[in-house]
Amino acid sequence: MKNTFHFDTQIIGIIGHPIKHSYSPFIHNVAIQLKKIDYVYLPFDIPSSNLKSALKGMTALGIKGFNVTIPHKETVIQYMNSVSEEVSMIGSVNTIVNDQEGLIGHNTDAYGILETLLPFKDDILGNQVCIIGAGGSARAVIYTLIRHFRPKKLFIVNRNERRAENLKDYFSEKMKFPSIKTKELIPPAAFEVMRDSKLVINATPVGMYPNQNDSITTLPDVFSKDQIVFDLIYNPQKTLLIQTAIKSGAKTINGFDVLINQAAKSFELWTGVDFPKEEVQKSLQLYLNN
Ligand code: NAP
Repeated sequence: MKNTFHFDTQIIGIIGHPIKHSYSPFIHNVAIQLKKIDYVYLPFDIPSSNLKSALKGMTALGIKGFNVTIPHKETVIQYMNSVSEEVSMIGSVNTIVNDQEGLIGHNTDAYGILETLLPFKDDILGNQVCIIGAGGSARAVIYTLIRHFRPKKLFIVNRNERRAENLKDYFSEKMKFPSIKTKELIPPAAFEVMRDSKLVINATPVGMYPNQNDSITTLPDVFSKDQIVFDLIYNPQKTLLIQTAIKSGAKTINGFDVLINQAAKSFELWTGVDFPKEEVQKSLQLYLNN
């Protein structure tokens, strides 16, 4: 990858710890080159003890924007001058824009999830949806589903059911959505919920590289051809869960689309330039295949 930097080259990047496995530098630098804009996207490995000073540095150095990843997505909020509606509901930031108004926190994961699920809107409306997980991405999924799809019933299935109940209390109150139920992630009850849901979403890291042999379920009879199974994991793209769903004839969606869609929104927030989605998608796919 060739880059020529000038005095007015704008810096954007990602902060997290660890940061080594992120695809974001690849994605954004490919988009920058395709759009021929004077930006560079850099990874910054920032442990929690350095978060506050890193954000002061961001302002002092005039860094245009950051993506934020584990473990800073929640803790970074206290340092923002303002946050978007999504952030105030979800409680986590994955994108910071640094402009005249200071540091503004956004959550483009919610947008990425929305764009990815929009083609399935008719399937979701009036049906039951099951979300496995109760962490940060489950919050973004729940917010997006309630805000844009209003399913008939939302089931939060989690290993720690107390955490699922906390999410239920939070969203039913904050978004005035009473149709949330919870279940502990243990068979057979959890599988019954998955079986009865039109859309099943995995929002846990179970099945993610390097533990790709783990799965929430490998039972072939949990899914059927009328269902949609969405795994937020993008590495590997065919998790065991997705493979099980394919064998059952269900429609499947993986985290790759969310990854690209959230990146597109962040890129547009920082640069004001359209993100070249299809070309970046192809480049990333080639990069991953190698
Ligand atoms: P998180 O906040 O740490 O939450 C993790 C959730 O997974 C918790 O509910 C946890 O359950 C559950 N969990 C963890 N290990 C488990 C296990 N062995 N068995 C059962 N449940 C387990 O993580 P997150 O930020 O939500 O991320 C979750 C996944 O989404 C990750 O794989 C991440 O890569 C993916 N993601 C993808 C995108 C994308 O662009 N495609 C964007 C965001 C996230 P407990 O509450 O019981 O601990």
